[in-house]
Amino acid sequence: SLIAMESEEPQQIVEGLAQIQTGGKVFYNPVQEFNRDLSILAISTYGMLLQKERSLKTSEEPSVEIHECGKKYDTGLSILEALSATGLRSIRYAKEIPGVKEIIANDISLKAVNDIKNNVNLNKVEHLVSPSHQDATMLMYEHKRENHFDVIDLDPYGCPSIFLDSTVQSIKNGGLLLVTATDMAVLAGNTPETCYSKYGAISLRTKSCHEMAVRILLQCIESHANRYGRYIEPLLSISVDFYIRVFVRVHTGNYKCKYTISKLSHVYHCTGCDSHILQPLGITKPNEKNQSITKFSLPTGPFTSSSNCTHCESPYHMGGPIWSAPIHNPQFVSEILQSASERLGTFKRIQGVLSLVLEELNDVPLYYTLQNLAGVLKLVTPPMTSLRSAILNAGYQVSASHMHKTAVKTNAPCKVVWDIMRCW
Ligand code: SAM
Repeated sequence: SLIAMESEEPQQIVEGLAQIQTGGKVFYNPVQEFNRDLSILAISTYGMLLQKERSLKTSEEPSVEIHECGKKYDTGLSILEALSATGLRSIRYAKEIPGVKEIIANDISLKAVNDIKNNVNLNKVEHLVSPSHQDATMLMYEHKRENHFDVIDLDPYGCPSIFLDSTVQSIKNGGLLLVTATDMAVLAGNTPETCYSKYGAISLRTKSCHEMAVRILLQCIESHANRYGRYIEPLLSISVDFYIRVFVRVHTGNYKCKYTISKLSHVYHCTGCDSHILQPLGITKPNEKNQSITKFSLPTGPFTSSSNCTHCESPYHMGGPIWSAPIHNPQFVSEILQSASERLGTFKRIQGVLSLVLEELNDVPLYYTLQNLAGVLKLVTPPMTSLRSAILNAGYQVSASHMHKTAVKTNAPCKVVWDIMRCW
């Protein structure tokens, strides 16, 4: 079932190394096991990365011991699960991520916090997991001065944007932020005006709406971070089942914030043939003579020579801004993949999704779908391999996407893609 459960009946659940009980009326969603498994791997990988970075600074070897769940790096991570429900995720983090120093498992609901307390005791992780009963935003604002947390996990119902202002202020420089959004109808173009009010970007109903959703969420986090002289570095961004999940580092640096306009674009989407063109908000370049000064150029005049699409003459809709820079860090993703253990319930799926992620053209935003390309031209759908070979032969790159079964991601201009399809 894809439907999250807020059951009236008490339940007993075993997932990973945790066993939990819910007193009823507290949120538990079995489908999110993939999300939790992947988050465990991502935080563990981040912990190791952090340890290496710290030892590079002090030129000391990272302290590694062999632990029952593999190598243990003494990361001393401080983690906040801001919206915890049963405490399952925090308990799994405590039991399955090596080297954690402290975890706060917070929820606004008293019933949920009672469940968290019972489950923390049941799993004997009282020394690591502290239950907390607060509004997540207030809790994070209380910690904003010391930029307290290495890792913050936001897993709300629906839209996470109301939590972002406090999140980007309470996370450490270089900290890892994990954010889920489940309001896919809003992000995928059903209600563009609501998307604008929640995320500061207009969503579009396109074939690549899932990738657009991920990129809208990333630009939203970046915009909140920029207000405080911070900026994001996406490590992994996925769309699965009924939700999206992004894993980003948040860094401090007013100077680097000047580059944000180069990482955002408006999207012109053709309402007839689903072609898309991206227009960056601006270009920021370092000054060749003095690298500490940046040079900007902003777009001039109307972007399109006509308001209609040159391929099918239908009108364009303009959406965004979206994050148009890379959405994954392939090195980080490879390390997650290598560290994935068969012990995890969703191991096979993690392998499948991350292998596809590694294949994706990371610097090409959005995609076409094979059916749509063929459908617009009223052709029998050609084999995917043939289309891909034709694009490669024309001198361009092409890849699949984990976000859609028949996605065609390419750096070939729209015109080249249509010309290839017309020759079929
Ligand atoms: N992370 C959990 C997991 O993996 O099972 C699921 C979290 S559930 C989707 C969302 C939780 O957020 C609910 O338990 C709800 O009570 C809590 N919540 C909603 N608004 C909140 C707020 N402002 N502060 C703290 N918790 C909140």
